[in-house]
Amino acid sequence: MLLNIKNLHVSINGKEILRGFNLGVNNGEVHAIMGPNGTGKSTLAAAITGREGYEITSGEIIYKGQNINNQSPDIRANEGIFLSFQYPVEIPGVSITNFMRTALNAKREFEGLPAIKAGDFLKKMEEKKKLVDIQSKLTNRSVNEGFSGGEKKKNEIFQMAMLEPTLAILDETDSGLDIDALKVVANGVNALRSDKNAFIIITHYQRLLDYIVPDFVHVMFDGKIVKSGGKGLAIELEKRGYDWIKDQMANR
Ligand code: ADP
Ligand code: MG
Repeated sequence: MLLNIKNLHVSINGKEILRGFNLGVNNGEVHAIMGPNGTGKSTLAAAITGREGYEITSGEIIYKGQNINNQSPDIRANEGIFLSFQYPVEIPGVSITNFMRTALNAKREFEGLPAIKAGDFLKKMEEKKKLVDIQSKLTNRSVNEGFSGGEKKKNEIFQMAMLEPTLAILDETDSGLDIDALKVVANGVNALRSDKNAFIIITHYQRLLDYIVPDFVHVMFDGKIVKSGGKGLAIELEKRGYDWIKDQMANR
């Protein structure tokens, strides 16, 4: 199993947000995590990537067979964990091209490889640019500076394509996207899907899942998964909202 989260409890500033979260992800799988706002979806993403301020009070995050509870975010990233942010940051003065070269070489150094050759880097850029349908006029600009919502997301999918993560987490990558941008995100993910990686797609709406068909859908409430199913569950949620699941829980 690539990722195994066992009975995870996570607090922010002493407030418990994740309360007994369990999830197993194998290579080759796409898991969608849905749920109302404030249920801890982004907290889960932060805990997996090791963001500061998220305290694991009990439980385990096992990645590639290792407990990574206390592993630094850098090492996790170098080990292939990638997070696409709900609110991407702007990095003025740094072009996407230079940003990617730096990120790629940091990863290669971790793997004991020399810096990528200029020619190989450009080849890879071209290949991945095609994959996510991103234009050179975008990759020559500063990271996210003045980008539209759609351009930011495209850029993130491009970064993901370049870094070839083993476990990619997309946190509300669909929020605020028009259908064309949504398709770019979905096409990128679908092109990168393989039996050597896995995706966790966090989404509030079912819309993205029309284009990225998940193997599993999980519903989160109050810091844990309360219902799991196949792709049909997402369609049911779209039709019926979340209240019926709340009712089911109340009657248990
Ligand atoms: P979701 O992504 O499902 O909307 P979040 O993980 O962002 O949910 O938030 C879960 C809960 O944690 C919310 O009640 C939110 O107010 C709270 N929360 C998030 N970040 C912080 C923080 N930095 N300090 C205190 N509470 C936070
Ligand atoms: Mg969130």
